[in-house]
Amino acid sequence: MPITKEVAVFPAEMKRSAYKMVINGEPVDAAGGETFHVYNPATGEAIATVPKADYADVDRAVEAARHAFEHGKWRRYPVGKRARVLNKIASIMRSRFDALVEMEILNTGKTIETAKGQVMQAIEDFEFFAGAIVGHRGAVNHVPGQFFNYTQKEPVGVAAQIIPWNYPLMMAAWKIAPAIAAGCSVVVKPASLTPITAILLAEICHEAGVPAGVVNVITGPGAKIGSYLAKHEGVDKIAFTGETSTGKEIMANASETLKRVTLELGGKSPNLVFQDADLDAAVNGALYGIFYNTGQSCEARSRIFLQEDIYDAFMEKFVAKTKKLVLGDPFSPASHIGAIISKEQLETIHRYVEEAKQAGATIVTGGKPAKVEGFENGYWYEPTIITNVTNDSKIAQEEIFGPVVVVMPFKEEKEAVKLANATKYGLASSIWAKDQGLIKRVTDGIQAGIVMVNSPFSAFPGTPFGGYKQSGFGRELSFECLDLYSETKSVLTYAGAKPLNPFQL
Ligand code: NAD
Repeated sequence: MPITKEVAVFPAEMKRSAYKMVINGEPVDAAGGETFHVYNPATGEAIATVPKADYADVDRAVEAARHAFEHGKWRRYPVGKRARVLNKIASIMRSRFDALVEMEILNTGKTIETAKGQVMQAIEDFEFFAGAIVGHRGAVNHVPGQFFNYTQKEPVGVAAQIIPWNYPLMMAAWKIAPAIAAGCSVVVKPASLTPITAILLAEICHEAGVPAGVVNVITGPGAKIGSYLAKHEGVDKIAFTGETSTGKEIMANASETLKRVTLELGGKSPNLVFQDADLDAAVNGALYGIFYNTGQSCEARSRIFLQEDIYDAFMEKFVAKTKKLVLGDPFSPASHIGAIISKEQLETIHRYVEEAKQAGATIVTGGKPAKVEGFENGYWYEPTIITNVTNDSKIAQEEIFGPVVVVMPFKEEKEAVKLANATKYGLASSIWAKDQGLIKRVTDGIQAGIVMVNSPFSAFPGTPFGGYKQSGFGRELSFECLDLYSETKSVLTYAGAKPLNPFQL
């Protein structure tokens, strides 16, 4: 597929009634002309249509990415030039900060403060990787004296990047920034519920000077085009964020062509509060740890473990503050809790809570869909605290992906670590304590990719983000991520005085 132009022309308006995919630097419809609606979950209203891609569209996108990778100049640019373009992407995003925040809110129902933080992090990802790629290089290695060995990092090729609906723009940035920094071309498939800001980001990439074909975005059903991408012979690497069950399927599909795979999957992360913790800080951190992004976070600390002595004092404050959380207009800075992404997700959350209730759990607060004035047709759920459950119960083991937390007591340190680790997941964890020795021992004992000590914040650009066990493998946001978009070529040169003749013939 020829590269037709360096910088494509996309609509200037970010808010549109119909969006197009981005393939080979062009705004395009699906070959079959089909579209589907995307909705504002806070109101239930349709906000726009996007193309419904089919296999032919995937082929087009992969072909464009392959052509750009094999024959284009992006990966051959001096690294500083690629870095300059990444910084330009960040600066265009900054100049459209408010519009990106607005689109993210309209398509997800998340609160304005949440959306602002995520858009800012998306921008900072591009800035981080613009800097990081400059320091990403090979090495000179120890070899016998008459030899010389160096390694060079080369981009892995075409990366398919499959994105979930909970952080649409931020996850797109987490994936696109390191991949293109490393010199790869990408085919991005956003979640069908939330495709808009990934499309806008691809347009901005072109505006900033990314050549046609390097960043492509296709929209459509994951089970069909996502799995086709995972099997596609033109794709060298697949980077997936989403549910653990989908990740398993993708890994199986990717094995046919032995693609490089990174998986950022689900979690059921523990929040451990020890008796010497600053109780107010732990309560505030636990609130944020579970209710941030309406609980629709992979790193949500959805299992709280409290040391017995502080159980009652913690609960009193935690329940009181949970009841004060404001569910309301996502555009109001006073709102803490936004909408649930879809009717199906709302029903799933409620089913989990009802089942727990029937199994004997106590619903301390919340426990049902919420009525929000002015948003009667949207999808809302009350922040919910559940007690009287055991760690092996369904509600304590399965990822609910909503504003629902279970609270359990523990007696001593070793038991806390055992309970924290008794899950198939291993994404994140929080520890609230003052005793540095205890913090170190618990940190060492926890099987999770992320440990937050006396803080609810899981990641900034630069911190490795990823899981142990069935929360996946590979790390995003960090220097490690650049290695996952690169191959290492080892160059071994003979530099001895006499020509070599190993067989002595
Ligand atoms: P999902 O697995 O349903 O979908 C994720 C993406 O995969 C979507 O784009 C979807 O269209 C696509 N998809 C669906 N079926 C597919 C298939 N068979 N082959 C290929 N692609 C397919 O997940 P979701 O509901 O969108 O997102 C929520 C999940 O994401 C939660 O489990 C959450 O924990 C996880 N998540 C993990 C992280 C992390 O970094 N570990 C971050 C955010 C979200």
